[in-house]
Amino acid sequence: MPQDAIELTAPDISRFARGTHGIPYAHSFDSGKPGPHVMVNALTHGNEICGAIALDKIFSLGLRPKQGRMTLAFVNVGAYRRFDPAKPHASRFVDEDFNRVWVESRLDGSEQTAELKRARELRPVFDQVDFLLDIHSMGTRSTALTIVHGLEKERKLALKVGVPPWIVAGQGHIQGKRLIEYTPFNDRSNAKTAILVECGQHWEANAARVALDTALRFLGVTGAIDDETVMKHVHEKAPEPQKMVDVSGGYTAKTSEFRFVKEFIGLEHFTKAGSPIATDGGETVTTPHDDCYLIMPNHRAKKGDRALRFGRPSA
Ligand SMILES: [Zn+2]
Repeated sequence: MPQDAIELTAPDISRFARGTHGIPYAHSFDSGKPGPHVMVNALTHGNEICGAIALDKIFSLGLRPKQGRMTLAFVNVGAYRRFDPAKPHASRFVDEDFNRVWVESRLDGSEQTAELKRARELRPVFDQVDFLLDIHSMGTRSTALTIVHGLEKERKLALKVGVPPWIVAGQGHIQGKRLIEYTPFNDRSNAKTAILVECGQHWEANAARVALDTALRFLGVTGAIDDETVMKHVHEKAPEPQKMVDVSGGYTAKTSEFRFVKEFIGLEHFTKAGSPIATDGGETVTTPHDDCYLIMPNHRAKKGDRALRFGRPSA
Protein backbone atom coordinates (compact mmCIF):
# COMPACT_ATOMS: atom_id res chain seq x y z
CA MET A 1 0.00 0.00 0.00
CA PRO A 2 1.59 3.35 -0.96
CA GLN A 3 2.16 5.67 2.02
CA ASP A 4 -0.18 8.29 0.57
CA ALA A 5 -3.10 6.16 -0.70
CA ILE A 6 -6.33 8.02 0.04
CA GLU A 7 -8.74 5.51 1.54
CA LEU A 8 -10.86 8.02 3.46
CA THR A 9 -13.35 10.53 2.12
CA ALA A 10 -13.42 14.00 3.63
CA PRO A 11 -16.98 14.52 4.89
CA ASP A 12 -19.05 17.58 4.08
CA ILE A 13 -19.15 19.46 7.39
CA SER A 14 -20.89 22.59 6.13
CA ARG A 15 -24.00 21.83 8.21
CA PHE A 16 -21.92 22.41 11.36
CA ALA A 17 -20.82 25.89 10.30
CA ARG A 18 -23.15 27.83 12.58
CA GLY A 19 -21.96 26.36 15.85
CA THR A 20 -24.15 26.55 18.94
CA HIS A 21 -22.72 29.51 20.85
CA GLY A 22 -21.47 31.91 18.22
CA ILE A 23 -18.21 30.13 17.36
CA PRO A 24 -18.36 28.57 13.89
CA TYR A 25 -17.97 24.78 13.82
CA ALA A 26 -18.01 24.47 17.62
CA HIS A 27 -20.99 22.70 19.16
CA SER A 28 -21.54 22.67 22.87
CA PHE A 29 -24.21 20.71 24.72
CA ASP A 30 -25.08 21.30 28.37
CA SER A 31 -26.64 18.46 30.35
CA GLY A 32 -28.01 20.83 32.97
CA LYS A 33 -26.32 18.65 35.61
CA PRO A 34 -23.03 19.25 37.38
CA GLY A 35 -20.00 17.59 35.84
CA PRO A 36 -16.90 18.32 33.82
CA HIS A 37 -16.74 20.12 30.49
CA VAL A 38 -15.28 17.65 28.01
CA MET A 39 -14.24 18.45 24.49
CA VAL A 40 -13.20 16.58 21.36
CA ASN A 41 -11.34 18.43 18.59
CA ALA A 42 -11.00 17.37 14.98
CA LEU A 43 -9.03 19.02 12.18
CA THR A 44 -6.42 20.82 14.24
CA HIS A 45 -4.53 20.01 11.05
CA GLY A 46 -6.72 20.48 7.98
CA ASN A 47 -5.65 17.34 6.14
CA GLU A 48 -6.10 14.94 9.07
CA ILE A 49 -9.59 13.92 8.12
CA CYS A 50 -10.09 10.88 10.39
CA GLY A 51 -11.15 13.19 13.22
CA ALA A 52 -13.76 14.92 11.05
CA ILE A 53 -15.19 11.50 10.14
CA ALA A 54 -15.34 10.52 13.84
CA LEU A 55 -17.05 13.75 14.90
CA ASP A 56 -19.47 13.53 11.97
CA LYS A 57 -20.39 10.04 13.23
CA ILE A 58 -20.77 11.21 16.84
CA PHE A 59 -23.10 13.98 15.66
CA SER A 60 -25.11 11.48 13.61
CA LEU A 61 -25.52 9.29 16.72
CA GLY A 62 -27.06 12.29 18.46
CA LEU A 63 -24.95 11.79 21.59
CA ARG A 64 -25.58 14.25 24.42
CA PRO A 65 -23.77 14.52 27.76
CA LYS A 66 -25.39 12.81 30.73
CA GLN A 67 -23.60 15.25 33.05
CA GLY A 68 -21.60 18.44 32.67
CA ARG A 69 -21.00 19.86 29.22
CA MET A 70 -19.73 18.34 25.97
CA THR A 71 -18.17 20.34 23.15
CA LEU A 72 -17.30 19.01 19.70
CA ALA A 73 -15.28 21.24 17.38
CA PHE A 74 -13.85 21.21 13.89
CA VAL A 75 -10.81 23.40 14.32
CA ASN A 76 -8.89 24.41 11.21
CA VAL A 77 -11.80 24.48 8.82
CA GLY A 78 -10.08 27.07 6.62
CA ALA A 79 -7.35 24.54 5.87
CA TYR A 80 -9.77 21.62 5.61
CA ARG A 81 -11.77 23.42 2.93
CA ARG A 82 -8.67 23.31 0.78
CA PHE A 83 -8.27 19.54 1.16
CA ASP A 84 -7.64 18.04 -2.26
CA PRO A 85 -7.02 14.26 -2.54
CA ALA A 86 -4.71 15.03 -5.47
CA LYS A 87 -2.49 17.17 -3.17
CA PRO A 88 -3.33 15.82 0.27
CA HIS A 89 -0.30 17.27 2.07
CA ALA A 90 -1.05 20.83 1.00
CA SER A 91 -3.93 21.50 3.40
CA ARG A 92 -2.27 20.98 6.80
CA PHE A 93 -2.75 24.68 7.56
CA VAL A 94 -3.45 28.00 5.84
CA ASP A 95 -0.69 30.34 7.12
CA GLU A 96 1.00 28.40 9.92
CA ASP A 97 0.67 25.30 12.07
CA PHE A 98 -2.35 25.70 14.39
CA ASN A 99 -0.65 23.31 16.77
CA ARG A 100 2.32 25.61 17.43
CA VAL A 101 0.61 28.92 18.26
CA TRP A 102 -0.33 28.21 21.90
CA VAL A 103 1.98 30.77 23.41
CA GLU A 104 0.36 33.71 25.26
CA SER A 105 2.56 36.34 23.63
CA ARG A 106 1.29 35.27 20.22
CA LEU A 107 -2.33 34.71 21.24
CA ASP A 108 -2.45 38.10 22.97
CA GLY A 109 -0.41 39.85 20.27
CA SER A 110 -1.55 41.73 17.20
CA GLU A 111 -0.19 39.37 14.57
CA GLN A 112 -2.84 38.16 12.15
CA THR A 113 -2.69 34.72 10.62
CA ALA A 114 -5.63 32.48 9.74
CA GLU A 115 -4.58 30.11 12.53
CA LEU A 116 -4.09 32.80 15.19
CA LYS A 117 -7.52 34.17 14.33
CA ARG A 118 -9.11 30.74 14.78
CA ALA A 119 -7.09 30.10 17.95
CA ARG A 120 -8.34 33.38 19.44
CA GLU A 121 -11.91 32.42 18.50
CA LEU A 122 -11.67 29.03 20.23
CA ARG A 123 -9.48 30.08 23.14
CA PRO A 124 -12.39 30.94 25.48
CA VAL A 125 -13.63 27.36 25.05
CA PHE A 126 -10.22 25.85 25.77
CA ASP A 127 -10.03 28.11 28.82
CA GLN A 128 -13.22 26.49 30.13
CA VAL A 129 -12.85 22.80 29.31
CA ASP A 130 -11.72 20.29 31.90
CA PHE A 131 -10.77 17.44 29.55
CA LEU A 132 -9.73 17.75 25.91
CA LEU A 133 -9.04 15.12 23.26
CA ASP A 134 -7.28 16.52 20.19
CA ILE A 135 -7.52 14.14 17.21
CA HIS A 136 -4.65 13.90 14.71
CA SER A 137 -3.06 11.52 12.24
CA MET A 138 0.46 10.88 10.96
CA GLY A 139 2.55 10.90 7.81
CA THR A 140 3.56 7.26 8.19
CA ARG A 141 1.67 4.02 8.73
CA SER A 142 2.68 3.87 12.36
CA THR A 143 0.56 2.10 14.92
CA ALA A 144 -1.76 4.65 16.51
CA LEU A 145 -0.52 6.40 19.64
CA THR A 146 -1.59 8.91 22.23
CA ILE A 147 0.75 11.85 22.82
CA VAL A 148 0.92 13.56 26.19
CA HIS A 149 3.21 16.32 27.32
CA GLY A 150 4.19 14.17 30.27
CA LEU A 151 2.34 15.37 33.37
CA GLU A 152 1.02 12.66 35.68
CA LYS A 153 -2.62 13.71 35.11
CA GLU A 154 -2.15 13.29 31.35
CA ARG A 155 -0.57 9.85 31.65
CA LYS A 156 -3.42 8.78 33.91
CA LEU A 157 -6.10 10.01 31.52
CA ALA A 158 -4.42 8.37 28.51
CA LEU A 159 -4.28 5.06 30.41
CA LYS A 160 -7.89 5.43 31.49
CA VAL A 161 -9.03 5.93 27.89
CA GLY A 162 -7.29 2.62 27.20
CA VAL A 163 -6.73 3.08 23.46
CA PRO A 164 -4.77 3.30 21.21
CA PRO A 165 -2.09 0.73 22.11
CA TRP A 166 0.83 3.16 22.59
CA ILE A 167 1.29 6.28 24.70
CA VAL A 168 4.17 8.64 23.99
CA ALA A 169 5.07 11.17 26.68
CA GLY A 170 7.26 14.19 26.06
CA GLN A 171 7.87 17.34 24.14
CA GLY A 172 10.04 16.19 21.27
CA HIS A 173 11.88 19.43 20.47
CA ILE A 174 9.32 21.45 18.60
CA GLN A 175 9.10 25.20 18.20
CA GLY A 176 6.13 27.00 19.70
CA LYS A 177 3.57 25.17 21.82
CA ARG A 178 1.04 22.52 20.97
CA LEU A 179 -2.53 22.95 22.13
CA ILE A 180 -2.04 20.20 24.74
CA GLU A 181 0.76 22.38 26.17
CA TYR A 182 -1.35 25.55 26.38
CA THR A 183 -0.78 27.00 29.86
CA PRO A 184 -4.09 26.08 31.55
CA PHE A 185 -3.55 22.41 30.60
CA ASN A 186 0.18 22.34 31.25
CA ASP A 187 -0.29 23.08 34.93
CA ARG A 188 0.26 20.58 37.72
CA SER A 189 -1.86 22.59 40.15
CA ASN A 190 -5.18 22.02 38.39
CA ALA A 191 -7.03 19.00 36.98
CA LYS A 192 -7.51 20.34 33.44
CA THR A 193 -6.08 17.74 31.10
CA ALA A 194 -5.46 17.64 27.36
CA ILE A 195 -4.23 14.65 25.36
CA LEU A 196 -3.60 14.18 21.66
CA VAL A 197 -4.24 11.04 19.65
CA GLU A 198 -2.41 10.16 16.43
CA CYS A 199 -4.82 7.70 14.83
CA GLY A 200 -2.53 6.21 12.15
CA GLN A 201 -1.56 7.34 8.67
CA HIS A 202 -3.55 10.40 7.54
CA TRP A 203 -5.73 8.72 4.97
CA GLU A 204 -5.76 5.03 5.86
CA ALA A 205 -9.21 3.60 6.53
CA ASN A 206 -8.25 2.36 9.98
CA ALA A 207 -7.44 5.88 11.19
CA ALA A 208 -11.15 6.76 11.16
CA ARG A 209 -11.95 3.70 13.27
CA VAL A 210 -9.22 4.57 15.78
CA ALA A 211 -10.46 8.18 15.90
CA LEU A 212 -14.03 7.13 16.65
CA ASP A 213 -13.04 4.50 19.23
CA THR A 214 -10.70 6.89 21.03
CA ALA A 215 -13.26 9.71 21.03
CA LEU A 216 -16.04 7.45 22.36
CA ARG A 217 -13.85 5.92 25.07
CA PHE A 218 -12.62 9.41 26.02
CA LEU A 219 -16.22 10.63 26.33
CA GLY A 220 -16.97 7.51 28.39
CA VAL A 221 -14.13 7.78 30.91
CA THR A 222 -14.68 11.50 31.39
CA GLY A 223 -18.30 10.81 32.27
CA ALA A 224 -20.01 12.48 29.32
CA ILE A 225 -21.61 9.29 27.96
CA ASP A 226 -22.28 5.90 29.52
CA ASP A 227 -20.25 2.73 29.02
CA GLU A 228 -23.09 0.98 27.26
CA THR A 229 -23.13 3.63 24.53
CA VAL A 230 -19.35 3.39 24.22
CA MET A 231 -19.37 -0.39 23.85
CA LYS A 232 -22.23 -0.30 21.38
CA HIS A 233 -20.32 1.87 18.92
CA VAL A 234 -16.60 1.11 19.31
CA HIS A 235 -14.98 -1.15 16.70
CA GLU A 236 -12.40 -2.65 19.05
CA LYS A 237 -14.30 -4.19 21.98
CA ALA A 238 -11.29 -5.65 23.82
CA PRO A 239 -8.19 -3.49 23.20
CA GLU A 240 -4.73 -4.83 24.04
CA PRO A 241 -2.91 -3.40 27.07
CA GLN A 242 -1.16 -0.11 26.35
CA LYS A 243 2.60 0.49 26.37
CA MET A 244 4.13 3.82 27.37
CA VAL A 245 7.29 5.40 25.97
CA ASP A 246 9.00 8.59 27.11
CA VAL A 247 10.47 10.84 24.44
CA SER A 248 14.21 10.98 25.02
CA GLY A 249 15.05 13.46 22.28
CA GLY A 250 14.39 14.44 18.74
CA TYR A 251 16.31 14.87 15.54
CA THR A 252 16.00 17.84 13.21
CA ALA A 253 17.21 17.41 9.65
CA LYS A 254 20.38 19.45 9.03
CA THR A 255 20.12 19.16 5.28
CA SER A 256 17.43 18.51 2.69
CA GLU A 257 19.21 15.24 1.88
CA PHE A 258 17.94 13.59 5.06
CA ARG A 259 17.02 9.95 4.29
CA PHE A 260 16.09 7.07 6.57
CA VAL A 261 18.02 3.88 5.87
CA LYS A 262 14.73 1.96 5.77
CA GLU A 263 11.02 2.67 5.32
CA PHE A 264 10.51 2.97 9.07
CA ILE A 265 6.90 3.51 10.10
CA GLY A 266 7.43 4.28 13.77
CA LEU A 267 7.79 2.35 17.03
CA GLU A 268 10.68 0.28 15.68
CA HIS A 269 12.90 -0.78 18.56
CA PHE A 270 16.71 -0.78 18.69
CA THR A 271 18.48 -2.61 21.48
CA LYS A 272 21.85 -0.87 21.06
CA ALA A 273 22.93 2.76 20.93
CA GLY A 274 24.71 3.72 17.71
CA SER A 275 22.44 1.77 15.36
CA PRO A 276 22.31 3.61 12.03
CA ILE A 277 18.84 4.88 11.16
CA ALA A 278 19.37 7.65 8.60
CA THR A 279 21.84 9.71 6.62
CA ASP A 280 21.78 13.51 6.65
CA GLY A 281 23.97 15.05 3.99
CA GLY A 282 27.24 13.16 4.51
CA GLU A 283 26.53 12.18 8.14
CA THR A 284 25.07 8.98 9.54
CA VAL A 285 22.34 9.43 12.15
CA THR A 286 22.30 6.75 14.84
CA THR A 287 20.20 5.83 17.84
CA PRO A 288 21.37 7.91 20.83
CA HIS A 289 20.91 5.27 23.54
CA ASP A 290 20.19 1.59 24.20
CA ASP A 291 16.58 0.36 24.29
CA CYS A 292 15.50 3.05 21.81
CA TYR A 293 12.23 3.49 19.92
CA LEU A 294 11.83 5.52 16.74
CA ILE A 295 8.70 7.64 16.96
CA MET A 296 6.85 9.19 14.02
CA PRO A 297 9.59 9.19 11.37
CA ASN A 298 9.02 11.99 8.88
CA HIS A 299 10.05 10.80 5.44
CA ARG A 300 9.40 14.25 4.00
CA ALA A 301 11.73 16.09 6.38
CA LYS A 302 13.65 18.95 4.78
CA LYS A 303 16.40 21.02 6.35
CA GLY A 304 15.18 22.32 9.71
CA ASP A 305 12.20 19.92 9.97
CA ARG A 306 11.83 17.49 12.82
CA ALA A 307 12.67 14.12 11.29
CA LEU A 308 11.71 11.93 14.23
CA ARG A 309 11.67 11.55 17.98
CA PHE A 310 13.49 8.94 20.02
CA GLY A 311 11.96 7.25 23.03
CA ARG A 312 12.64 4.80 25.80
CA PRO A 313 10.21 2.63 27.77
CA SER A 314 8.59 4.58 30.61
CA ALA A 315 9.73 3.57 34.07
ZN1 LIG B 1 -1.75 16.65 13.32
